[in-house]
Amino acid sequence: MIAEEIHRITSALPQGVRLVAVSKYHPADAIREAFAAGQRLFGESHAQELQRKHTELEDLITAADTPLEWHFIGHLQTNKVKYIAPYVHLIHSVDSPRLLTEINRQAQKVGRVIPCLLQLHVAAEETKFGFTPDEARAYLDSGEWQQLQNVSIAGMMAMATNTDDTVRIRADFHSARLFFEEAHRTYFTPTDGGTSSFNELSMGMTDDWHIAVDEGSTLIRIGTQIFGERQY
Ligand SMILES: *Cc1c(COP(=O)(O)O)cnc(C)c1O
Repeated sequence: MIAEEIHRITSALPQGVRLVAVSKYHPADAIREAFAAGQRLFGESHAQELQRKHTELEDLITAADTPLEWHFIGHLQTNKVKYIAPYVHLIHSVDSPRLLTEINRQAQKVGRVIPCLLQLHVAAEETKFGFTPDEARAYLDSGEWQQLQNVSIAGMMAMATNTDDTVRIRADFHSARLFFEEAHRTYFTPTDGGTSSFNELSMGMTDDWHIAVDEGSTLIRIGTQIFGERQY
């Protein structure tokens, strides 16, 4: 049951850790059910699917005291940014400087500042997506991102190696956490003593979220445990 799983997860979360219910490939009705159970953050990974659901569920944003928030968590092609820029709450999966620049451009068109997380590649698998710690360091050192007025870098996202080896999973989350702290110290600590807006570390899915929370995650992204197997 959707409500039961949501309560099971949220009651196990320490203060400051939030649940993103990953609703990709599940119908709008499943989202309504989760919303009725008190869930507000929803993660989607395809721009057009998100756009369709946003239209179907707009009442949960316009007519609610605490509205639904859309989180984008999948690989985002630059030519799809325009579909989600008007309403997306947080983009977890910024995997290239070029994508961040395009998000900035589309956010400017609609008069918004869009919070974004840099996707960090720490897993063993080969993948085209995400910044290695060295690439992230080089990009942050370049200072280019500071010219982008319509995005704010709010933290980082990482995925662990897809394996049953919990030692390996923990090590991946741990290296993401260490790099997150390094970046916080080096690039995002305000010199005027103000509070930093670089605060989110998005990690943990159905099979590994307990470990991710242990290792300092602030946002867990859970689909299967809440909604069951994906439907289409
Ligand atoms: C699908 C997806 C999830 C959710 O995965 P589950 O194993 O179903 O919990 C989390 N993060 C990302 C980036 C995803 O694509």
